[in-house]
Amino acid sequence: EANRVIAEANQKSSKKRIAVMTSGGDSPGMCAAVRAVVRAGIYFDCEVFGCYEGYSGLVQGGDLLKPLVWEDVRGWLSLGGTLIGTARCQEFRERAGRLQGAKNMVLRGIDALIVCGGDGSLTGADLFRSEWPSLLDELVESGELTSEQVAPYRTLTIVGMVGSIDNDMAMTDNTIGAYSSLERICEMVDYIDTTAASHSRAFVVEVMGRHCGWLAIMAGVCCGADYVFVPEQPPSAANWREEMKKVCLRHRERGRRKTTVIVAEGAIDDELNPITSEQVKDSLVELGLDTRVTTLGHVQRGGTAVAFDRLLATMQGVEAVKAVLESTPDTPSPMIGIQENKVVHIPLVEAVKQTKAVAAAIERKDFEAAFKLRDAVFQETWGDFAALSTSDDAAGAVPVDKRLNIAVVHVGAPTAALNAATRAAILYLLSRGHTPYGIENGFSGLIRHGAISKLTWLDVVEWHNVGGSFLGTNRSLPSTDVGTVAFYMQKFNIQGLLIIGGFEAYHALHELKQSRERYPIFNMPLVCLPSTVSNNVPGTEYSLGCDTCLNVLVTYCDAVKQSASASRRRVFVVEVQGGNCGYVASYIGLATGALAVYRPEDNITLKSVREDLKLLEKSFEDDQGEDRSGKMVIRNENASSIYTTQLIADILREEAHGKFESRTAIPGHVQQGRIPSSMDRCYAARFAIKACKFLEENNEQINHSIKLWESEGFGSNETDLGRSDTQLKFVYKHGKKYPVPELDNAKLLGIHGTKVIFEDVDELWEHNTNVESRTGLDVHWDQMNVVNDILSGRLMLRKNE
Ligand code: ATP
Repeated sequence: EANRVIAEANQKSSKKRIAVMTSGGDSPGMCAAVRAVVRAGIYFDCEVFGCYEGYSGLVQGGDLLKPLVWEDVRGWLSLGGTLIGTARCQEFRERAGRLQGAKNMVLRGIDALIVCGGDGSLTGADLFRSEWPSLLDELVESGELTSEQVAPYRTLTIVGMVGSIDNDMAMTDNTIGAYSSLERICEMVDYIDTTAASHSRAFVVEVMGRHCGWLAIMAGVCCGADYVFVPEQPPSAANWREEMKKVCLRHRERGRRKTTVIVAEGAIDDELNPITSEQVKDSLVELGLDTRVTTLGHVQRGGTAVAFDRLLATMQGVEAVKAVLESTPDTPSPMIGIQENKVVHIPLVEAVKQTKAVAAAIERKDFEAAFKLRDAVFQETWGDFAALSTSDDAAGAVPVDKRLNIAVVHVGAPTAALNAATRAAILYLLSRGHTPYGIENGFSGLIRHGAISKLTWLDVVEWHNVGGSFLGTNRSLPSTDVGTVAFYMQKFNIQGLLIIGGFEAYHALHELKQSRERYPIFNMPLVCLPSTVSNNVPGTEYSLGCDTCLNVLVTYCDAVKQSASASRRRVFVVEVQGGNCGYVASYIGLATGALAVYRPEDNITLKSVREDLKLLEKSFEDDQGEDRSGKMVIRNENASSIYTTQLIADILREEAHGKFESRTAIPGHVQQGRIPSSMDRCYAARFAIKACKFLEENNEQINHSIKLWESEGFGSNETDLGRSDTQLKFVYKHGKKYPVPELDNAKLLGIHGTKVIFEDVDELWEHNTNVESRTGLDVHWDQMNVVNDILSGRLMLRKNE
């Protein structure tokens, strides 16, 4: 009878009812995902239920399946783990458990389920959906429910989100929690590094990943490890010990004082024998190294989510609700994923199938297939790690006549990723037999002091985890004295230049290309690798160093919010960097749950400030004196020349008429500091290597042209050069001048999702650059503001007016 009353009451509500659960192993960002589902659900006029303790909540029902309201999830963005609990539920693996789950859902009028978990959880969800009609029939047949009761719920909608620290799900570039986990690993290995170097010790660090080596290989790159063991690329059972020892010994002989080997917990050899941390340790001891093992364990799951995971979880949570509302009985269950930086719907069954195929391929020793089933970034990173660490330079080097002199320069304000990117470039170049040069203190260092010198392996090998710029950086441009820049390039026979930095680096590239007529030395391949906290370089969605800045801000804003919440009736106006680009402000607004975001892309008006005030008043009212999350608004430093950070804070305080007060908080240059984040370290390595490959490939083209010229019997003397068409460009090789017909080799390395596009600097300058505001013309971060407006309650307020 009680069931009937509940069911009837529920059926009177016409609102869509969605249950959200977290299941399987927890991962940082799950709370953010639940928050997004709850709030977006409410915004889109649904009722949302929290299904506590994973599938146990469905099976047991009762208080484990209860409605969640807007305020329930306040402050959840900043929290680690999952507040609705997660569990491994044996009962749900049995039909009887699923039958009970179906009954509990129908009784509450729920016929949509959003599951955030790993492949096991999503498999369970899909099975539940496929069985749903038969489960309902069985419930009716057994008399547990009536056919009238089940009639409105004949179709179950399932939407999956992947919460997993392993990043092991196929068809999505990232899973919620993977970068947070990698961040924890990097922090821990950094700690281990300092003591390892002090005692000249070796450390074997075991990281999570039973079937997936993503954490291990990424950690290998991020932490400058000497060797890595992952399940997808098992080494030979016969000689893995010798191979590893050879590499570690080589690094010691070059002068490295510490040795780091990363072992995935599922590491195996090619005969499927486990490779354990203890075995690795024993081999290193044979080298005479004082070796310790550290198993990181659950530290890797702990802590709060990094900025990226907050963004990912939030965007995907909102999309999951939309997917529920768009779903039809014929739509295959979607999994919300991310591909090329875009949130996408992926057929859940297909993704789970592909994911399971990796483990199966490993089991049948088809390692090539297992490796190929991993995404392109994984595969590329494996190759990058080889170049940075394990490759034997003598074997990897190009023939002598193809070896190049390549210079690296930092331009603009510092970011945390400059050293990591430079390290990767130099190590890659050395592994290929080239000679790398570092220019110190930017173009002015070169112009005033001729500060350019060779860099060695030992110079840079420990630069992976240090912020700032060892080379030195400043905003000076080549135009300060372009002739002197050309002089030094010629003097040192430089054949390729890697410019790392922000808008000024891009500007410098443009200037050098413009100077080619006067100084043909600049016809060498030139590439700009964007690195700026503001992410304002045209032609790229991402700039190195920006992620570290976002993480600094997330930590800062969490602290500010905590202070605001402790004082109960206070709002903070936080001013963030970004120049005239609102990317950082938008991102951080979303990642910290700011109530308002002021960006240069929008006009601040009295009307908009009044609207924010109203939202703040409502938010304080709803809290009823229990502000658990802290109120904050974000203002980009250049959002308005009139509405300064102080003025906005003053207006809010004045207009609140004592209901709440305000403070400003300006983190300033800490945003450019700190050690690089795990994402910045991974990207720094990947993109620096890509930039170097660009320089190599374009030199190959030049070599080809020179060969053609020489095959016609011409050389590099004045008479021969005089025969060349005046339209031809000149290049230098080993100090000699040659004509080449065409050059398309001054590019910006643009990062678009996981892809890289090299864009011609003149094209970009002409068609996609606002030189005055030092920004690009594309605004690719607008969607973040829309989502934040949904989740902050702003759009709800407008809707209700
Ligand atoms: P992680 O990646 O952290 O291991 P996961 O989601 O893969 O996460 P599992 O333990 O495999 O973790 O699954 C979590 C829960 O999902 C199980 O305890 C069970 O309740 C349910 N589940 C998993 N596989 C199935 C299945 N084949 N049928 C029904 N339910 C399942």
